[in-house]
Amino acid sequence: MTRLPFTPLVASLPSSVPFVGPEAHERALGRPFKARLGANESVFGPSPRAIEAMRTAAGGVWMYGDPENHDLREALAAHCAVAAERIQIGEGIDGLLQVVTRLFIAEGTPVVASAGAYPTFLYHAHGCGAVLHSVPLHDDFEDLPALAQAAHETGAALAYLVNPNNPMGTFHSAEALSAFLAALPSDTVALVDEAYVEFAPERDVLPLAVDDPRLIRLRTFAKAYGLAGARIGYAIASAEVATAMNKVRNHFGVNRIAQAGALAALGDQDYLAAVVEKVASARQSIEAIAASHRLAAVPSAANFVAIDLGGDPEAAAAQSHEVVATLAERGIFVRRPFAAPQNRCVRVSAGTAEDLAVFADAFGEVLTAGPRLRAATS
Ligand SMILES: *Cc1c(COP(=O)(O)O)cnc(C)c1O
Repeated sequence: MTRLPFTPLVASLPSSVPFVGPEAHERALGRPFKARLGANESVFGPSPRAIEAMRTAAGGVWMYGDPENHDLREALAAHCAVAAERIQIGEGIDGLLQVVTRLFIAEGTPVVASAGAYPTFLYHAHGCGAVLHSVPLHDDFEDLPALAQAAHETGAALAYLVNPNNPMGTFHSAEALSAFLAALPSDTVALVDEAYVEFAPERDVLPLAVDDPRLIRLRTFAKAYGLAGARIGYAIASAEVATAMNKVRNHFGVNRIAQAGALAALGDQDYLAAVVEKVASARQSIEAIAASHRLAAVPSAANFVAIDLGGDPEAAAAQSHEVVATLAERGIFVRRPFAAPQNRCVRVSAGTAEDLAVFADAFGEVLTAGPRLRAATS
């Protein structure tokens, strides 16, 4: 058999991607999901102005998109009140994670992240050969002092943080993040994934004016702006880092339909505000569904809520696995956290009233039927 010259690093990696998409479940199920509440997408969709802009851009799709993403970059600079040199556009946060990991990670480079961290970061970090040191959450919050300490102990190049956190929804305010930056080693980069920042209380978000060369913030049009399928996001970093990203990024990676959609979505802040309100009300509905079963919900600053199944965490983790699988069989897509003890929860994305009614019915039945339900119905 031919032996292909894979690099030793690539040969050592598993041939798998971080997520099984809902479409794979639907193919296995033989029908589409009735409620798609597992990927924290925005069921409310993008602004009609963004849809119109993308429709118009579609006719010009024979052209490559502007590799400098100039118009969107300038608009984001104005919107964020930072210099355009500090902004880099990419194929969603996922694409930007690949760029940033390539900038700072070689084989054997230590990185720190929380246990159960967003798998796409881990995927790209491992893809560059990182040695991962993970730190447990503390009361379902990312443990900032422990992350900083781990960075000191390991000499980490990167400390990855998701704020508001996925999968728990917990949020660290500006004060805590400033203390974290102060506590980090002078040569550790804080990579802060702000996929859900638009849902967090605005006054508590670390100001964008904080221009620490060690700070890279990643944001996206996928969640609050409702453009997950368009694959577009941005980094706010020091000018030095944003410029360095030009060395390795996929320069025609962001297509022109996405650029047009993101620009129009950014320009419709009224629509964004309305979505943020709908999400807040959906969070309350999910909390009420949990409360109706005497279950606690982790207070969330994002567009999803982690429902705590309660009791012994290990038993709850087995139950959450069961609940997610049984709900999938019933046409409802939700997910659960990867790591213990957070995997005692079921994570439900903000849905429409209709989605949540479908979820509430099935969730109630699954909880009452208990763990034998699946065996009985399958
Ligand atoms: C959803 C999510 C992303 C994905 O962002 P894209 O811009 O769609 O790539 C990144 N990070 C976290 C923590 C997420 O939950």
